[in-house]
Amino acid sequence: MAERPDYYKVLGVGRNATDEEIKKAYRKLARKYHPDRNPGDKQAEEHFKEISQAHDVLADAEKRKEYDRGGMFGGLGGAAGFDPSQFSGGFSGGLGDIFSNLFGGAAAQGPRSGRVGGQRPPQARGSDLETEVSLSFDQAVHGTQVSLSVPTSKPCPTCNGSGARPGTSPKVCPVCHGRGVEAQSQGIFSINQPCSNCKGSGTVIEHPCPTCEGTGAQRSVRRLRVNIPAGVRDGSRIKLAGKGDPGVRGVPPGDLYVITRVSDSPIFKRSGENLEVEVPLTIPEAIRGAVVEVPTLNGTKRLRVAPGTRHGTVQRLRGEGPPRLGGKGNGDLRYRFVIDVPASLSAEQSEAVDRLSQVMNGDPRAKLFPQGAGRAGGEG
Ligand SMILES: [Zn+2]
Ligand SMILES: [Zn+2]
Repeated sequence: MAERPDYYKVLGVGRNATDEEIKKAYRKLARKYHPDRNPGDKQAEEHFKEISQAHDVLADAEKRKEYDRGGMFGGLGGAAGFDPSQFSGGFSGGLGDIFSNLFGGAAAQGPRSGRVGGQRPPQARGSDLETEVSLSFDQAVHGTQVSLSVPTSKPCPTCNGSGARPGTSPKVCPVCHGRGVEAQSQGIFSINQPCSNCKGSGTVIEHPCPTCEGTGAQRSVRRLRVNIPAGVRDGSRIKLAGKGDPGVRGVPPGDLYVITRVSDSPIFKRSGENLEVEVPLTIPEAIRGAVVEVPTLNGTKRLRVAPGTRHGTVQRLRGEGPPRLGGKGNGDLRYRFVIDVPASLSAEQSEAVDRLSQVMNGDPRAKLFPQGAGRAGGEG
């Protein structure tokens, strides 16, 4: 059995690294070695599992303390180990943390992903997972199919998820006598806390399984092809029912949430369920009107610009925008006309503007000064 790797070395941080430093190092490495970025690279995949495991331990204050003490952390993952029906719930708390840390915390708000300190929740199903997918603007608007690699866990094959070395079994925790909780008195109150000896699992592993080091879990990576519906936005959550962590002992699996990260388009800007395009007009076009060609999501269209169009005027093509999720039609395309004012003029243009100002010499600001009162300078 290989020795357990030095988790600090794995993440490339010092022994006294702060939580923030650990998180940062983990994110950086996780992105670098993520199987999606290294398709078919077994070494990267192994490394990815290793850094996930290192983060799992070091990002958890309790586990880190135990690790620093050189313990086997028989209690890794809370329910580490013993009752395989608890295994998924306990360990997946850790996985939930990994995902919420890696992907900005959305998992923490998701259902069933919070860590339930020490209590033993009935394990009704596997836990939910969350992953992120990057899409181009076009892929998001038109829909696409992507392949995903989702880190997941399965029961360790050596110990069948018990965490105990084959031929041995976990012992009832001598501190809490298997109850998993400890009473701690604070003044007049007595507070039940997860047992510090067994982390609430009620059992301790005296002889950890050499393969999983007592966690009962083996990390693995699952590959999936996922259809991304047309019209997703940056931050959309797609739920894939039953694609989360597999349950054990016949309970149903959890769900997988795919969060879409969508690149900005240089042309189309999202505005609610619509898209907006800025369309520059020359000064003569704004004054005289014109027919201008504009981009749409499927080619181009010609728009009639009315004479006397003001800066900021919006024209829309109803229902030509991105699909609304859930099959409720499409949003609009909105074209915002902006008058292109040149920063510099050729001699010829300058002459033309001079002529224009001689003939367009009304006072557009007269209405700001109803009585002509207080107007400094006069007509000078
Ligand atoms: Zn205990
Ligand atoms: Zn094992």
